[in-house]
Amino acid sequence: MEFFKDRSVRFAAGLTVAIAIPVAVLFYFQFRSISALSQSSAVVLRQLSQETANGLTQGLQVSLRAPFSNVMLRVSQAQTEPLDLALIAPTFEQGLATEPFVSRFYIWSDQTVQHRDEVLAYDRETHGFTADVPEGAFIVRRARELAPQKHAISLFDTTIDGKHTYFQAQLRWKTPARERLTSFVALRVDDDRLRRAFLPAFIASHVKSVEGPTGFPPLTVTILDGANRVVYPTQGPAPTRYVDERQFPLAFFETELQPYIAPEDRKLEIWRLRTGYADQSIADIIAARERPQRALMALLAGVMALGVFFVVRAAAREVRVADMKSNFVSSVSHDLKTPLALIQLFAETLELGRLKSTERANEYYRIINSEARKLTRLINNLLDFSRIEAGLRRYKREPANLTELTRQVLDSLESQFRHNKFNVSLHLDDYVPVVIDKEAAQQALENLLSNAMKYSPDNREISVRVARDDGYGIVSVTDQGIGIPPRLHRRVFRKFFRVQTDAGTGPQGTGLGLAIVDHVMRGHNGFVRVDSEPGRGSTFSLYFPLYAGETHGDETDTGDRGRTADVARSA
Ligand code: ADP
Repeated sequence: MEFFKDRSVRFAAGLTVAIAIPVAVLFYFQFRSISALSQSSAVVLRQLSQETANGLTQGLQVSLRAPFSNVMLRVSQAQTEPLDLALIAPTFEQGLATEPFVSRFYIWSDQTVQHRDEVLAYDRETHGFTADVPEGAFIVRRARELAPQKHAISLFDTTIDGKHTYFQAQLRWKTPARERLTSFVALRVDDDRLRRAFLPAFIASHVKSVEGPTGFPPLTVTILDGANRVVYPTQGPAPTRYVDERQFPLAFFETELQPYIAPEDRKLEIWRLRTGYADQSIADIIAARERPQRALMALLAGVMALGVFFVVRAAAREVRVADMKSNFVSSVSHDLKTPLALIQLFAETLELGRLKSTERANEYYRIINSEARKLTRLINNLLDFSRIEAGLRRYKREPANLTELTRQVLDSLESQFRHNKFNVSLHLDDYVPVVIDKEAAQQALENLLSNAMKYSPDNREISVRVARDDGYGIVSVTDQGIGIPPRLHRRVFRKFFRVQTDAGTGPQGTGLGLAIVDHVMRGHNGFVRVDSEPGRGSTFSLYFPLYAGETHGDETDTGDRGRTADVARSA
């Protein structure tokens, strides 16, 4: 909860909620609509497969029995006994034209004068009747063999010229008791014709009219014969997966007539028709389609989240900077007014000459002096800061003794220490040669010492140490004050940054002192380091490179070097 006291945090949280919730809702519905779309696509694919499978099997069965109803039943007993070839021929001709799997029709009669007991064949090649076809004797023999079973339809097959061939005959008898076979009409189906000519054309013409949803793999049809051999597709491998399978008997008559077929024990070959989508299951197809959409959504969500994060961060930073600036303005006015008011007050008192004791007067002079110094420091910081901001701050470095410089700064602050009852202990090496811009270094050290006083409300012990170590001349200021939480160690060096006190009642300040210190140290190829813990006090150390050898005269530097110092500083 402490966290939410920060206005920028509240603002960031509000902004995040305001942007992130609608975006999240949007994405949620988008994801849902992808799933809904997938589900409906799956339903469409499933239905398409089912309906195609049903339609094709029914259509196939109708086509297979068409010659039976269109030809066999239309050639009546009156036309065969006696043979009326002129009437029969057009029926056969039409049958051959519409039933591509039938290769020949036959007619036989012994109740006629011409062609009596002769098998007459009618085929595509002759377009007329031919007697003496090689298979004639076989057909008559089988028809006679099966006639005693007294069924109107007989089925038999054989191999002619190495090709499997089916025959189906429609038998006629003299009497209703069916004692003597008097005539028959028959048809011949060559396996080859059926498989290579009829089926591919039939499936192609039917599947052509089946329209699947766009963007999905096309519907594939497979037909397997009774021996499980692939009949269709005629080329290329058959898909191994399917969605629907239908069985159908290879019958050239209505299947309800099965009990009236001779031979009675004849089993019809059962073929199977499968529909599917190549080798993919519907789930695979849907998943493959969904994957890029989901990935895209996730990517977009990620980009949006990143965008929200950056926007919120930038906005929160702006709010923070705005807050810091407004604090800064009030701090600067306060820091300017207080010393001025004191100076004015004591100067007026002195001017009136009412003071009796010189000791008192001296005290007043001292206060005026110290307040004036505070003012100078503040104004120096402000001026420096604006120069730094404009990139104009240059450091004029010359060899100096860090100990001596430290003593000078301590001397100048002596009366402030005394007045505020600070006990300052010193641990100073005699001679620590460094190359520095004296004024800037003094200002940096003064800022540290003034902070040490400002942030030590109770325990007024300050220790100052000057030493050399590892190529650096180091001056450190240790206090026993309020300390700084480690997570803020880096931030205290940012411009305008001030650690918030609970009630906002802590010492006033501009948040510029340490930012300037940091800049000065960079400008000297050195760095500033902080060790601090809340309640235990702080140590700020300035690391200046030791002077070794020749003077570099008025070397200048803007201090805007790499940020390697950060690492050391925050260590
Ligand atoms: P300010 O004008 O606020 O003192 P500085 O840049 O000098 O600005 O310091 C930044 C912040 O770092 C201060 O507001 C203070 O919270 C913290 N700080 C600096 N020095 C000390 C210290 N010696 N002890 C505790 N906190 C400190």
